[in-house]
Order: sequence, then C-alpha cells, then structure tokens
Amino acid sequence: VAEIGTPERSIITTCAYCGVGCSFEAQMRGDEVVRMIPYKHGKANRGHSCVKGRFAWGYANHGDRILSPMVREAITDPWRETSWDEAISFAANRMRAIQDEHGRDSVGVITSSRCTNEETYLVQKLARAVLGTNNTDTCARVCHSPTGYGLKTTFGTSAGTHDFDSVEFCDVALVIGANPTDGHPVFASRLRKRLREGAALIVLDPRRIDLLDTPHLGEAHHLALRPGTNVAVLTALAHVIVTEGLIDEAYIRARCDWDEYLAYAEFVSDPARAPEAVAEATGVPADAMRAAARRYAANGASAIYYGLGVTEHSQGSTTVMAIANLAMLTGNIGKPGAGVNPLRGQNNVQGSCDMGSFPHELPGYRHVSDPEARGIYERLWGVTIPDEPGLRIPNMFDAAVAGEFHGLYCQGEDILQSDPDTTHVAAALSAMDCVIVQDLFLNETASYAHVFLPGSTFLEKDGTFTNAERRINRVRKVMAPRNGYGDWEVTQLLANALGGNWNYTHPAQIMDEIAATTPSFAGVSYSLLDAVGSVQWPCNDAAPLGTPMMHGDGFVRGKGQFIHTEYVATDERSGPRFPLLLTTGRVLSQYNVGAQTRRTDNNVWHAEDRLEIHPHDAENRGLKSGDWVRLASRVGATTLRALVTERVAPGVVYTTFHHPTTQANVVTTDNSDWATNCPEYKVTAVQVTPSNGP
Ligand code: SF4
Repeated sequence: VAEIGTPERSIITTCAYCGVGCSFEAQMRGDEVVRMIPYKHGKANRGHSCVKGRFAWGYANHGDRILSPMVREAITDPWRETSWDEAISFAANRMRAIQDEHGRDSVGVITSSRCTNEETYLVQKLARAVLGTNNTDTCARVCHSPTGYGLKTTFGTSAGTHDFDSVEFCDVALVIGANPTDGHPVFASRLRKRLREGAALIVLDPRRIDLLDTPHLGEAHHLALRPGTNVAVLTALAHVIVTEGLIDEAYIRARCDWDEYLAYAEFVSDPARAPEAVAEATGVPADAMRAAARRYAANGASAIYYGLGVTEHSQGSTTVMAIANLAMLTGNIGKPGAGVNPLRGQNNVQGSCDMGSFPHELPGYRHVSDPEARGIYERLWGVTIPDEPGLRIPNMFDAAVAGEFHGLYCQGEDILQSDPDTTHVAAALSAMDCVIVQDLFLNETASYAHVFLPGSTFLEKDGTFTNAERRINRVRKVMAPRNGYGDWEVTQLLANALGGNWNYTHPAQIMDEIAATTPSFAGVSYSLLDAVGSVQWPCNDAAPLGTPMMHGDGFVRGKGQFIHTEYVATDERSGPRFPLLLTTGRVLSQYNVGAQTRRTDNNVWHAEDRLEIHPHDAENRGLKSGDWVRLASRVGATTLRALVTERVAPGVVYTTFHHPTTQANVVTTDNSDWATNCPEYKVTAVQVTPSNGP
C-alpha cells in the first residue's frame, strides 16, 4: 500500500479461482489494485478468503500479458502483431473457408469455466447461431461432466443440492475424492469448524488429506482405497446400509419409486458386493467399510462433498450415481446438513454447464433433440439449430487427427497443457487449418495457433460467475480492459465478422437474454443481483430470491432414481512394466496449470510439481526426497523431483499439474468416463525410476 498509495474507490467483485466464489472488495487507485479485502457480506465467504484470492491481481499487469492480436499463416511462421480488425477478419475468413470446403461441422468452439456466464453463453451461441453446429464444449468436459450426467439421471438436475451454510448443520461429512483445504480453502474452514464442533468425518481418498489432521477432530474414518475402485467401495457401503436395515424406508417410499428400490436392493445385496468381497480389490479393510457405512447412515444429517477424485475416472458418472444412491437410501436429500455437493474446481464450472456449453444441451440442460427448447432459440436467433449433439472435446481431437475437423475457437483454456495425452492433443491441433486462441498469455496451446486474440482478466470485465452452490455472483469491472475489449466483445466481433448481427452493448443485456430463455434463470437480472448481492438458481416466479436447497419437497425429475452401479475395473492397472498407480491433485497456493498463480509474486511457494511416493516404494528404487525421477506411462514420460511421504499408500504415487516444466498430462492416458468422455486423470499405471534430471 505504501508503494501504490491509498485507495480512491472500492468495487465489489468475485474471485475468479475456485468454485467457492468468494466476494472481494477491490480497493483501487486509478487502474491499480491497492489490495483486495474479503467482503464481509459475501454470502459464500462471509469475510474470509484464501491466499490465492487475496492476491489475485498480480498477474493482471504481468509483463507476459499479450495485449495485441497476432496472426500467422502457418504455425511454423513467427507471430505478426496486427489490428483487431485484421485479426478478426483473418479468423473469420479461415473458419468460413473451412466450412465452405468441409461442411459446417468441420469446426467447433471450446469455452472455459474460467469465463463469465455471459461469455460462455455467447460462445455456444456463436457455434449454434452463427457457425450452425452443435460442436461446442467446455473444459467442464474434463472435470465435472460426470456430475452433470449422474445428478441429472438420479435427481433430475445437474447441480449440487445444498448451500455452503448447510455444512453448519451436518452431523457426518463424507468427503470423497476431494482435498478441500487445498482446493476449496474457504469452504474447508467452515467444514473444519463443524468437525471441531463434533461432526464425524469420513474420507474416501487414496491419499491422506489435511482434513484428517484437523485439530480436535472427533470421530474420523479414512478409507484409503486403491485408485479406480470408487464404485466398488460406494456400492459396498450401500450393501451394508441395505442388508443391515439402515435405510430410511419412509423417505424412500415417499420420494423414490419403491419397486425400483426393491430391484436396486436385490442388486446391491448380492454377497459379491459386500465389503468382504471387495476388500482385496479396493485395498480397504471390510470392517472399515462397514463402520463408515453405519456412521453415514446413522440418525442425523449426513452430507457428501466430492471432487474430481470422483469424476475423473472411467466410471466417473457411475460413481456420481453411487453417491446419489447413498443419499437417497438414507434420506439425506432435502434437509439441512445433508445433500450431495460437488465441489467445483474452477470458478464457473457450474455456470459454463448451465449456459449450454455442452454439445448435447441448450442452456438450462435441455437436450438439443427437444424441439420445444430448440424452438425458443430458433425463433429468437432466426436460425435452425441441429437436433443432433455435436462433438465433445476428445471427439474433436480424434476427428482432427482423422482429417475430419479443421477449425477451432478456444477461449480461456490451455487444452494442450490441461487435457490428457498431450501428444495426441498436439497431433490434433497441428492437423487443423485454423486454431484461434483467446487468452491472457501465450499459452502452450497457442504454439499450435494461427490467430491469438488477447483475453481480459476478471478484473477487466462485467458479468456473473455461478459457484458450486448454484450462487450467481456479480463480477464487476474494476479496471479498463488492457487489450481494449472484454472477452464477450471479442466473441461478438468474431460472430459479426462471420455474418451474425449481434448488438449487445453491456453484459446485462446478455443476462436478460439468458433469463428470457432459461426457466431456472427467469428471475435473474443485474438489478436483482445488485440489490440482494447474489441468488442461487432456480430463481424465477416460484422462487424470486433463489433456492438455497434443492429437492426439498420432491426431486426435480419427480421420483429419485436408484441406479444399479456395477463396478467395472479400469483398464489402467498396475503390472510388471508399470507397477505403480499415479493420481493427481493440486496445492493451495497454485491454481490449475498455474497461468495466473505462477505470475503472482505473493504465491511464491510450491515452485515445482513433486512426485509423492511412499517410503517403501522409494527405498526399493533407492530414492530420497529431492531426487530426480523419471515418471513414465504407456503414453509418455516426464521428469520431476521425488517427495518421500506416507501420505500416499504403497503402490500409489501422486503429483500436481501446475507447472509446464513437468507437464504431468504427458503421462495421463486417453481412458475416459463411459458416459461423458471425462478423462481418467486419476488413475495412470506408471513406472518410477531414478533420473539425472530433465
Ligand atoms: Fe475463495 Fe476459492 Fe478464491 Fe480462495 S480461490 S478466495 S476459496 S474463491
């Protein structure tokens, strides 16, 4: 503060990192942020923040920002700075030429869960209304797409059921495949407070997470399962609940189909699904599973919080449905302190899914084959929308390699670094005739791009983010866009160069269009958000101030649906050549591929990704902490330093994916969830050997 001076004004906005969605007061002097203060009236954070959000402006003025558009004929050519007009018409001409030669479905768009609702809405509109294709996807494909499939199938809508406040009423917290103290720190603080007050903790995770070391923690269970066996363990828990008579029969009779339940009960009661039968395969002792199931099903309110350790598996969608089964069996939906709550990794995963970014869904989760839903947009936009789903991100890559997909507009997502099997992604990008990257920095994907359109930070834009509890928060511009345009304006420029006739002058108008066409957003407007701070969707005539808890009286789909969750072992198994199983995660101070946090001075720790390895496995390889190791899978190899720790079990190794020097996704494979193609980042069979360094 002493260097920059005292603030002249302050503006309330929303953190652009994780799905907690903390509100901040950005204190400004001119166009400089003096400091960011956690906003005490922020409904998601109530005056708290973590270190990432607290210093979230450092990268905005970083020298690596690209502020001028750039183009090049071929990816082997040097970049050439140019005007916005030339860059936009260069991009539009290439995309149109591709479509003229190869058809409208030869191009596609990818939007980001980092962008605002208004921006993602416009990107999918660009695809459907201007390019005439459903080839639109979002980076939620690689994180929470199984949540969308699983919760929509079982409950009827693709969203967490409860708000963060609800944690204060839980008696049991079942945390599955999530590490909230690093990934969702402000929510983790509230959860820890509840644990200190006496709530029991059950953790289902291959790795020991910090929540288990909460001071004054009472009852705690850690089921340190083998990576890839979530469904077997969760179904075993259901087996115990059903066969030991721990169900909430009145709830099931009232809220679910009893005959369907009976069929499910027969399925789950099979002795082959008992804890004793799956203990060896899962690595979890049977008595530990039985104790955890009894505790979860005990009287009171039990809440489930889960993360990407649930979704990023070949059975990611099945795992989400196994979680929903547990909650329905025990009546833990529709009351305070309970629920099924996905902890969204990025700030706007929920929103980018809500906004119709997926190739099969229009905004509000309405399938593109639904003529009534399609008709709303066709009348408004004056176009015909294809009634078949478009390509998902991995399908785009496969089609590009096969010579059937030629042009991509990618906004706010470094797909080369963050998607699995980097070699395959690189092959796909290099096969395309036009790759348009819109980002803050010249990211790894941009090395395969023909057009670079400078992006804007959250500090430079108006809009909304929707957090993990469905809370729609305002993002407010605190400084002018350094590149001259907000991201939504760039999409509009591109749309109009491609023949669109868009005339938005402020993101509020985009939200008005969203509200007019999306029933769950019908009551949302900037004036409402400015008046009440934030609302949780559904927000409409039935709930003018939003809905903190869903499925209170009945499920959105009517009756809750039990799904028979058959465990199918992943193809990714350890063996003589690749004897260890790798799983991945993140640390508190860094964020995803680190594009922002690595460029923020205050986040100086965690300067490199390390490979956590159990002392037993380290000793077998002659390794100690700090040694360089080569980490290899069947698709690739990388080099990083070892960290010997008992946090991971023997046979399991773990690393983060924050640094491009490591490129952890060089080793992750193209295995994916059977229903959604979400990559199986969390299980990779690997070999670890000593190395002399990179
Ligand atoms: Fe809040 Fe998440 Fe931002 Fe931290 S990173 S301040 S927990 S929104």
